[in-house]
Formats: sequence, C-alpha cells, structure tokens
Amino acid sequence: MAAKRAGNSKFLKEYNESVVLDLIRTNKAISKAELSSITGLSATAMGVITASLIGKGYIHEMGTGESKGGRRPIMLELKPDSFYSAGIDMDTDYIKAVLMDITGKVVNNKCIDMLVPPSFDLVIKKAEKLVVKMLEEQSLDFSKLLGIGFSVPGMVDSLTHKIVLAPNLEWENADIRQSLTILGDIPSYVENESMSSAICENWIGLCSNVGNFVCINIKSGIGAGIFTGGKLYRGTGGTAGEVGHISVDENGPKCGCGNYGCLETVASSRSIVERARRLIKQGVVSSLNRFDDVEEIDLDAVIDASRSGDEAARNILNEAARYIGIAVTNLVNTLNPSKIVLGKEFVKYADLVIDIIKGVVECKALKDPAERVEVVASEIGESASALGAAIIPLKVLFKYTL
Ligand SMILES: [Zn+2]
Repeated sequence: MAAKRAGNSKFLKEYNESVVLDLIRTNKAISKAELSSITGLSATAMGVITASLIGKGYIHEMGTGESKGGRRPIMLELKPDSFYSAGIDMDTDYIKAVLMDITGKVVNNKCIDMLVPPSFDLVIKKAEKLVVKMLEEQSLDFSKLLGIGFSVPGMVDSLTHKIVLAPNLEWENADIRQSLTILGDIPSYVENESMSSAICENWIGLCSNVGNFVCINIKSGIGAGIFTGGKLYRGTGGTAGEVGHISVDENGPKCGCGNYGCLETVASSRSIVERARRLIKQGVVSSLNRFDDVEEIDLDAVIDASRSGDEAARNILNEAARYIGIAVTNLVNTLNPSKIVLGKEFVKYADLVIDIIKGVVECKALKDPAERVEVVASEIGESASALGAAIIPLKVLFKYTL
C-alpha cells in the first residue's frame, strides 16, 4: 500500500495503526526496526503502536529474523486464527460461503445448489445459517467475526450497501443489513459479483501488487471489475465493467439488453452450450452426439469433448475465445492495464484457449499497450466472488477505500 504514509500526531494514532497493520500484512513478517524505517516513525512510537495491535489480538511475535549486525530482531506477523471474515456469493443457481481468517487463509467453505432463482428472503436465511454453521464447525463465537461480505450479480449501492437491481435474481432495492436476523449485529457489506472477484485478485490473487487491471468473470454472463490506481473503478452510477455488453459482432445474436452481438451472446458459458446444442441438432459430426437429449449437453461436456480431440467442440471454444480476444483488445486500448485476468468458469478451459485470446490481442491491439499487458487466467476460479466478498471486512479493518 505505497500510497499510505504515516503521520506523527497523536490524532493519527488509529490511522498509523492501520498503516502499520497493513505493512505487517503485506510483508508477511517484519521487525519493529523495519517498520520504523519504512514509516519514519520513531522506535518509541512504533513500540506503542505494535503493543496496541498485539493487545487487540491482530498481530503477534513469531520468533526472530535475520540479524543485520546486532541482536536478531523479533518479527511480527498477523495472528492467524485471531479474527475472521465471511463471504457469501449469491447467484441464480447456488449460494457459496467462505470463512477466512485475518491473513486471508480460507478455513471453511460451503455451497448449496439452488434449482430455481431463489427469493431474496430465502437466500438471506440460508446465508445466515451457512455462516453460523461455519463458525460452529471452527468453534468460534460471533465476537471473532469482523464482518460479512455479500457478492451479488447485479448493481449495488456501495455507500448504502443495498442491492439496487439484480435482474437475473429479480431482486430490486433489497436491503441486506435490514434483513439479517441472526447476524444483524455483525457489520455487513454488499458488492457486485465481478467487482468482488477483482477485489479477490487484488488481495490474494494474481494482481496483489497491480494497480491497473481488469478482472473478467466469464460464466453464464460476463462482467468485469476494473482497478485503476489501486482502487475499484465504479463509474458514475456504479455500473462500470459491463464488458459482457461490448458489441463484438453487430450481426450477432440479440442480447437481453436489446443490442446485437454483445460479447455475452457469443462467449459466455451459456452461449457456448447453446451453440453446441444447436450444432448437434443440425447434425454436426461430434462425440457430443452420444447425448440422447441435447439439453443434457453442458459446459463440462463441451470441454471434455474438446480435450478428447473433438473438432466441433474445439471450434466452439475457439470461436468464443476469439470474441473474448476482441473485447480484451478494446479494454487494452481503452484502459492500458498491466494485467487482464480471465476467471470464473473460464478457468475450466483456459489452457485450451488462452493462446488464442493472446494471439488476437497481439494482432489487433495497439502496439504499446499490447506490449505492456499480461493476459492471464485466474488461479482462483469459481470461488473468486465469495472470497472477494469475505475480503471486504478485512479491507475495512485495514482502512482501505471500498
Ligand atoms: Zn447486451
């Protein structure tokens, strides 16, 4: 967190503590002398701050480090298993829950499949039960829980933490904080799903030291979380990142938004599956013909067929990848990011198509931004939004802007 600088006034005590706490987090293990040297605070002041953080239970002494001439220094680190944060990823067909400790280590996780898009009240009730169950299984009481983050596929108000609109769930103006009953006293936050994934990549994923990046979620829909200068870019109304509606083929299929050939209509998991079903119905030669009912063909079946050398399946994935490449090219030219991370269901077949996407970017993007960007598949995958949601209460603790 290079942008933060410590001050020396007593009024800045809390701020200084958060700076020191974050330095301990990002350095993993660090001595008081090193903390003094980085922040410019005196050894005495640093002693007071670290004693306070130890007293609050956030950090502890974890042995001695390498000597630089004198005594071996005592190293400080975040105290694992001291405090926890929960993340809930609410979607049309599942609820994922994770519990992580202050260091970002996941200690428990749960997932429930939902057969039909669930009501808001039902999801909140189930989410609360999942959090309570995870705490029970870890033998933790509520006082150890810093907060709960909720990830939702829709538009959120980052100030009020209300869901403005989640179209696929048919939720509108939903207030999570008002709806929690068992966990009503625990601080809670809500974030857009793609922005949650970007938060995850920035905290524990491939973009931990990257200020300008785009994290693209590819699943039944496509969306992105954009970081500029180390912060989430939300746009004027909070809807930035709707890259699924970048038009990549004006003669393409009609999209739910009313436009034609949006990225989502040709490169989402749903469009890949629909295309496979349509081709099989048309009699294309493929191992996918083994399905008696084409409706049983899912993304995994297309990926498996492609891995087994099925040409039709491979062509479907390759075509989707070329369209992703076009959208990524637009992002590279517009935003000049240093990284573009492709995640969620995409990670299941990333190895099959990532070179195609890179090839399109290399070929079509402007030379200078293309040379500076790294296009990669996420190493986290489908849990990214739940993890990102769990990271939000940690960001609050470490005094980051949400
Ligand atoms: Zn659209």
